Amino acid sequence: MRQQSVLISGASITGPALAHWLHRYGFATTIVEVGPALRPGGHAVDIRGVARRVVEEMGLLPAIRAAGVHERGYALVNGAGRITGAVPADAFGGGGIVAEIEIMRGDLSEILYQATRDGTEYLFGDRIAELAEGTDGVEVTFGSGLVRSFDFVIGADGVHSGVRRLAFGPQARFVTHLGAYTGYFTVPDPGNLDDWFLMYNAPGGLVASLRPERGGTAKASLSFRSPELAYDRHDVQAQKEILAERHARSRWLVPQLLDAVWEAPDFYFDSISQVRVDRWSRGRITLAGDAGYCGSPLSGLGTSLSLVGGYVLAGELASTPDDHEGAFARYQDEMRGYVEQCMELPPGGISGYAPNSQLMISLRNISMGMVNHWPMRQIMAKQAGKADAITLKAYPA
Ligand SMILES: Cc1cc2nc3c(=O)[nH]c(=O)nc-3n(C[C@H](O)[C@H](O)[C@H](O)COP(=O)(O)OP(=O)(O)OC[C@H]3O[C@@H](n4cnc5c(N)ncnc54)[C@H](O)[C@@H]3O)c2cc1C
Repeated sequence: MRQQSVLISGASITGPALAHWLHRYGFATTIVEVGPALRPGGHAVDIRGVARRVVEEMGLLPAIRAAGVHERGYALVNGAGRITGAVPADAFGGGGIVAEIEIMRGDLSEILYQATRDGTEYLFGDRIAELAEGTDGVEVTFGSGLVRSFDFVIGADGVHSGVRRLAFGPQARFVTHLGAYTGYFTVPDPGNLDDWFLMYNAPGGLVASLRPERGGTAKASLSFRSPELAYDRHDVQAQKEILAERHARSRWLVPQLLDAVWEAPDFYFDSISQVRVDRWSRGRITLAGDAGYCGSPLSGLGTSLSLVGGYVLAGELASTPDDHEGAFARYQDEMRGYVEQCMELPPGGISGYAPNSQLMISLRNISMGMVNHWPMRQIMAKQAGKADAITLKAYPA
């Protein structure tokens, strides 16, 4: 039988995870990534529920555990740095705000890349410029001018997906801005985190957080509430200036974080947005991960969703490689309920994450202090249950 080829756009989490399964099922896999190399950076991401089984079946659980973040839990601090409430990591059987398996996004991406680089062709520093679908495949013109044909094309290129724009329509049809922006970056460890993931809120919808990592550094994030802003997504300096201006009066460790932001090697800035696409596939082209379904960082389940999505999409395509339309339809059917649940925002949504006034910050802190009591306990348990809201099918080896 002729080996079928798949081009995946995006080499972060979804792309390499998908390539792993497709390669295992005998497809020839190519990944095109717009960045010149694998992109470092990002905070810790969670691997929860069913996604943990997926990485176990990939054979990557030991590597992920070894690189994992070990935090005592999540704690709220006030402007003076005093802890005003805390949720330990083992609350809800590891299903709390700090999950049992947390790993820095960059480390997870690197593990997935190392596990796939021998079996997958990686094209860094390029992107898909044009897609022309014929009866037997898709002719792809790359930004570099290269023209090649593939049996299938998968957009795993995130919230601002290029494949989605080319094959499905403009971003505005699919992406909903939730009213905030976040910048993530690495800073020198201030030395007093004591293994806690610390979060500080200031009136005006300002949020700062810091979490420890190994090797004398820590991961910082700064968020602010705002309607959609017009800014150049490729101008990192301008994005740092936006953050610095918004957080100019924030207290706690924020002045220190802002001193460090200018030197940060891995600064990443984006809106907090959700992505919804009615039909994830058009002919031989389909979407996976944030490109097709994204609950935003607030959902805490984006990485789990993309790992599970990769498993299901590859499994369905391998089950009926000659009926890709059937395979893509089953992929969406299998994932639908799980995606819907994972996209539901935690209570309060953006207002719970970034309350606008001191009164709302105090009320949110009181409710966080009650996580072990009704009704917060039930709400947190419901959140944790979403990570298991799909039963994985066994696909042919
Ligand atoms: C640098 C970085 C840091 C992040 N930090 C966090 C974080 O701290 N917390 C959090 O919750 N989520 C973070 N995310 C998002 C998180 O990785 C995703 O929500 C989730 O893991 C699903 O991943 P994904 O692979 O579908 O999408 P993404 O992780 O968004 O990856 C998309 C990939 O596609 C590439 N790409 C984009 N456009 C094109 C194109 N036209 N052609 C080719 N390649 C393209 C991007 O460079 C990127 O490598 C971060 C993403 C990135 C890229």
